[in-house]
Amino acid sequence: MAMENLKAELVVVGGGGAGLAAALGAAENGCRDIIVLEKAGSAAGSTAMAHDIFGAESPVQKRSGVEASRDELFKTAMEWAHWTRINPRIVRAFIDKSGDTIGWLENKGLRFELIQYYPNQVPLVRHSVKGHGHALMKTLRDNCLQQGVKILTRTPGKNILRNEKGGIAGVVAQAKDGEFTIAAPRVIITTGGYGNNKEMLKKYCANYHDTITYDGPPSNTGDGIRMATEIGAATAGLGTVNLHGPFIKPRSDSHWMKMDAEGPDGSQIRISLWFLAWEPAMLWVNKRGRRFIDEGYNLAFFAFGNAVALQPDGIVYTLFDSDNLRRIEKQGLVRPGAASRANWLPVSAATPLPGLEREVHKQADKGDLKISGSWDEIAGWMGADPAVLKATIEEYNISCDDKHDALFAKDRRHLLPLRTPPFYAVKGHIGLCDAYGGIRINEKMEALDAEDNPIPGLYAAGSTAGCWESESYCYRLTGHLVGFALNSGRIAGENAARYLSK
Ligand SMILES: Cc1cc2nc3c(=O)[nH]c(=O)nc-3n(C[C@H](O)[C@H](O)[C@H](O)COP(=O)(O)OP(=O)(O)OC[C@H]3O[C@@H](n4cnc5c(N)ncnc54)[C@H](O)[C@@H]3O)c2cc1C
Repeated sequence: MAMENLKAELVVVGGGGAGLAAALGAAENGCRDIIVLEKAGSAAGSTAMAHDIFGAESPVQKRSGVEASRDELFKTAMEWAHWTRINPRIVRAFIDKSGDTIGWLENKGLRFELIQYYPNQVPLVRHSVKGHGHALMKTLRDNCLQQGVKILTRTPGKNILRNEKGGIAGVVAQAKDGEFTIAAPRVIITTGGYGNNKEMLKKYCANYHDTITYDGPPSNTGDGIRMATEIGAATAGLGTVNLHGPFIKPRSDSHWMKMDAEGPDGSQIRISLWFLAWEPAMLWVNKRGRRFIDEGYNLAFFAFGNAVALQPDGIVYTLFDSDNLRRIEKQGLVRPGAASRANWLPVSAATPLPGLEREVHKQADKGDLKISGSWDEIAGWMGADPAVLKATIEEYNISCDDKHDALFAKDRRHLLPLRTPPFYAVKGHIGLCDAYGGIRINEKMEALDAEDNPIPGLYAAGSTAGCWESESYCYRLTGHLVGFALNSGRIAGENAARYLSK
């Protein structure tokens, strides 16, 4: 049976973090008849894949005696951005709301732990949510349903309708059996980023490579940006990406290695080959055999993503020798294995990894790892000029002997020469967490036209909106992608509710 046309006070297009926060923000401020349209099978989005939420002056920080001043974090964000490609009023609005949002979520039953993202991180702003993004989205969904919000899954928004006075008239949506219309005076667009739209990535993102894999949900194809621009919204901030890595392609389970040891929970410790690539005492070269980064840089792998993206084809080779591998087997990782999926158990730093060398050798026939006693053979496998690779390794080994990296000033503790065969090379590429920016908004999350006038009744929040981040992820504000989604969503919902009551 075809869907009937519907009526609502507010339609939210996109049921991820920003969308459900917007729907709740509106419902808690008196808006009734809210419909959320969700393209995928459940209202989850990339927010369900995440684990950390940025917050400043949150109840969690206050209880822990952490001083995370909103003023100082605003300055940090603007310093990072050099005041370019970013609207300071939007940044201010979201940072100011962020502590309150952590408390708002605590009141809904979520629990948080403050954790570091990189060594010596001050202040602690990363609120790791217990149960990760799955728990966050479940809580938001449950609260939406309690408030009477209708969530229509497998029902993408297609177009936004304007009335003859220039206001919003509703949304055209696509159900299984055909199109239908929801008449509504307010629409909030929260369709997430455009990470799964190769055309847009190629058009807007500098240094995009086909080797980059997208980690978010397939449904995030930038639909909201098209819908908003079709009715006169301007764009802003397109081209900002959150790259990370390196990873090994394909990111399948086959790269996980089982150690002869158990973790604190009694389960067998598993690490991926790519955990080795993240170790600071490795040497990284591009496919031409040239070094391009301090491999120990703050241990922050979003910066690594940016640097690898600048290399030919976005490819990096991690090189190490037998001594280094055996050292890691005995002493464990320096960088604790990150947990991004619910079923990944982080491996604590300095946990011995018995069996590592044996397991690494088992990976040799999978195409991403070359083990050889000869650097020339490894250069041939990489497609690099052997003389260039040899010169790079010799230069690096001298830096290790001198305990001074004259090229990139890497921390001397991580300078270990590569002299003991066999030698290892692991091929890696980078991942795309999100590609954000798009609809031009102001600090009330109102969508703007080319003259910066609000389009009455139209709002945008989360990754589909633009101008809240400059060209790359500001990791000093760890967790601020989900942070922005939730806070901009709440702000949009509250303003939409206020507008309705006028
Ligand atoms: C693996 C992974 C881990 C991450 N970890 C973190 C982290 O720990 N901390 C952090 O801050 N950030 C993290 N990020 C980034 C962060 O998750 C996103 O930037 C953020 O959640 C975006 O929120 P959003 O609400 O804008 O989009 P989403 O949560 O992606 O929601 C967008 C929703 O819109 C829907 N949609 C799309 N088109 C339509 C349409 N036409 N009609 C209806 N619905 C539509 C989508 O199906 C989706 O449900 C991570 C990303 C990934 C992929």
